[in-house]
Amino acid sequence: MKVTVIGCTHAGTFAIKQILADHPDADVTVYERNDNISFLSCGIALYLGGQVADPQGLFYSNPAELTKLGANVQMNHNVLAVDSAAKTVTVEDLTTHEQTTSSYDKLVMTSGSWPVVPKIPGIDSAKVKLCKNWNHAQTLFEDAKDAKRITVIGAGYIGAELAEAYSTTGHDVTLIDAQDRVMPKYFDAQFTDVIEQDYRDHGVKLALGEKVASFQDTADGLTITTDKGSYDTDLAILCIGFRPNTGLLQGQVKMAPNGAILTDDYMRSSNPDIFAAGDSAAVHYNPTHKNAYIPLATNAVRQGILVGKNLTKPTVKYMGTQSSSGLALYGRTIVSTGLTLEAAKLQGVDADQVIITDNYRPEFMPTTEPVLMSLVFDPTTKRILGGALISKYDVSQSANTLSVCIQNENTVDDLAMVDMLFQPNFDRPFNYLNILAQAAQAKLAN
Ligand SMILES: Cc1cc2nc3c(=O)[nH]c(=O)nc-3n(C[C@H](O)[C@H](O)[C@H](O)COP(=O)(O)OP(=O)(O)OC[C@H]3O[C@@H](n4cnc5c(N)ncnc54)[C@H](O)[C@@H]3O)c2cc1C
Repeated sequence: MKVTVIGCTHAGTFAIKQILADHPDADVTVYERNDNISFLSCGIALYLGGQVADPQGLFYSNPAELTKLGANVQMNHNVLAVDSAAKTVTVEDLTTHEQTTSSYDKLVMTSGSWPVVPKIPGIDSAKVKLCKNWNHAQTLFEDAKDAKRITVIGAGYIGAELAEAYSTTGHDVTLIDAQDRVMPKYFDAQFTDVIEQDYRDHGVKLALGEKVASFQDTADGLTITTDKGSYDTDLAILCIGFRPNTGLLQGQVKMAPNGAILTDDYMRSSNPDIFAAGDSAAVHYNPTHKNAYIPLATNAVRQGILVGKNLTKPTVKYMGTQSSSGLALYGRTIVSTGLTLEAAKLQGVDADQVIITDNYRPEFMPTTEPVLMSLVFDPTTKRILGGALISKYDVSQSANTLSVCIQNENTVDDLAMVDMLFQPNFDRPFNYLNILAQAAQAKLAN
């Protein structure tokens, strides 16, 4: 069985390892246009902020490892075309520029995503950077050495992390977003008010509710003009989202409107010999039971493994996702899973919400910290649909608990009384998540 894999970051690396584990006789060839594999982009901000001293630690695999496992690893090879009727791929060796066409029995599309670059005048300036892969990370690290003023465009998770990182390295940072709050897709205003105040306290200039209209190179930098003002900067970093890299299969398999490949529960596209995983694919979003585009490494590694497990016959089903994610900014843990109330309303989901603050452990302890928490639920079925937490205490695992509740379709009543450990070092007789759900019960009772 000839298996061709296109792209080798997370979904590709995990797919190859699983394919070779489950099908040792498979003839696996992977084409990767870059010169590296398995780079953890989630470490870019930590690297730029000086928390990761050795960026080589951000790789967890390498071509030699995959070769040793039995894969034919073709680095610096760009796949130019896929003919799904003939079951062939045409590939360019980026070193020799030689083109070859070869056949496959199964194709694995792990070609990921690329940052959205809108058609804005001046956007092709060399001073406007992207942030996605290892090459970008190196450029951003080097260029920041000579830059004093750095402007991050897009206050989603990635922009939020970059703005924080550069504000701790002596740069003058401006964060621009067309939305009037940072990370509005994940957090309510009570949460983003706290985050925005932290930015201001650390000297980050927030330009929210402003849409970038143009970039203009100047003698000593770049001027970014928005619909409300203009900002002089040395460097701009564009972080406004990602698009699936799926042009090779356009018109050959079913896709979502944004180009994400639609798969069944076994990662098979509408063509059963073509699998898709990671940022190139849509996900099943459990809170709505609909397809969604949620480009996260969490999805990529799980889906990659499923490609291997389901390559020859449907074996292990994809569990879907809650889009659980988190970040640490200025000493706060900020985490979310599932729907916000606003997102639920936008998607036509009947939902209600409670937001409360409680200390994570008793006040008689030498220290404690407040936790701001939100729970979103269906007011009729009481099913938990989403949640978010922010605290100086590490509440990251609580988002995972809520994620499991959403996955398992638990209700507010379940969470209110579910057994959770009690010990004053950690919490009260009721854990703060129990208390959050009890607040939801009280709201539902009124
Ligand atoms: C700055 C940043 C921070 C992030 N932080 C987090 C985080 O904290 N948690 C989290 O879960 N996710 C995070 N993500 C998202 C995560 O990195 C992606 O979801 C993940 O990289 C997707 O992996 P993938 O293998 O599907 O696709 P990609 O990482 O996009 O990799 C696709 C690969 O395919 C190759 N390729 C594409 N087309 C071709 C072709 N035609 N020929 C040959 N090769 C090709 C590309 O070169 C690339 O190596 C972050 C992303 C960024 C950019």
